Amino acid sequence: MRKYVIMGVQGSGKGTQSTLLARDLDLAHISVGDIFRWHVQSHTKLGAQTRRVMAAGELVGDDLVEKVVRDRLEQHDWNYGFIIDGFPRNRRQAEFFLESYDIDGVVHLELPEEEVRRRVLARRLCARCGMDYNLIAHRPKESDRCDVCGGELVPREDDTPQALASRLRDYHDKTNPVLDLFRRKEYVVTVDARPEKVSVQREIRARLGLPPYEP
Ligand code: AMP
Repeated sequence: MRKYVIMGVQGSGKGTQSTLLARDLDLAHISVGDIFRWHVQSHTKLGAQTRRVMAAGELVGDDLVEKVVRDRLEQHDWNYGFIIDGFPRNRRQAEFFLESYDIDGVVHLELPEEEVRRRVLARRLCARCGMDYNLIAHRPKESDRCDVCGGELVPREDDTPQALASRLRDYHDKTNPVLDLFRRKEYVVTVDARPEKVSVQREIRARLGLPPYEP
C-alpha cells in the first residue's frame, strides 16, 4: 500500500503526473479540485456553496474540504493506495490529514512563475466530458473541439490572469508552510517540472525508489 501527496503550483503538471503514477501502480487518483468541479457542473448543493469561491481562484473553506477528503477516502476503493492532488493546501488541512493517514512520500513539482503563467493561460477543458487540453503541449486535433466527445473546449473559469494571481499568492502564503512541515518529516522529493512529462515521471519514480516508467 502506497500513499502519496503531490504538490506544486498551478500548471506544474500535478494532474498529469498523478494519472501516470496511479495508472501503473493501481493507485486511486484523488483530485480535490476535480471533485469540486464535478459538484459545480452537477449543480449539487456543495457545488452551489463553492462555485463563486472557486471562480475567483480562492480556497474553499477547510471544513468543506476536510469533509470531501474524508468522504472520498472512506470509500476504501484504494487497496493499493492513493495519490492525492490539490490537498493539503494549508497548515490546518495538513494537520488534519497527518492525524488520520500516514504517508509514504510527498512529490513537490517545482516550476518558475513565468512558465506557470504560460501554461495555465493555455489550458482548456472540454465543457462536456471534462477532458483536459493544453494549447502548448496537448493540442486538440480540431481547434476548440474535444478529440474524445466533440464538446466545446473552454478555459477553466479560474484560469484568468486575476484568479491565477490570487491562486499563486495563496500558494506561496499558505502552501509553502505545508511543504516545510512535510520537509521536517523528510517526506518531500522536489522534482523540476519544466522537462516534458515522461522525463518528469521518470524522475519522480527514481526519487521515490519505484520501478522505472515505461511509456
Ligand atoms: P485545483 O484544480 O487543484 O487548482 O483546484 C481548483 C479549486 O478548487 C481551487 O482554486 C480551490 O477553489 C478549490 N480547492 C481545491 N483543493 C482545495 C483545497 N485543498 N483547499 C481549498 N480549496 C481547494
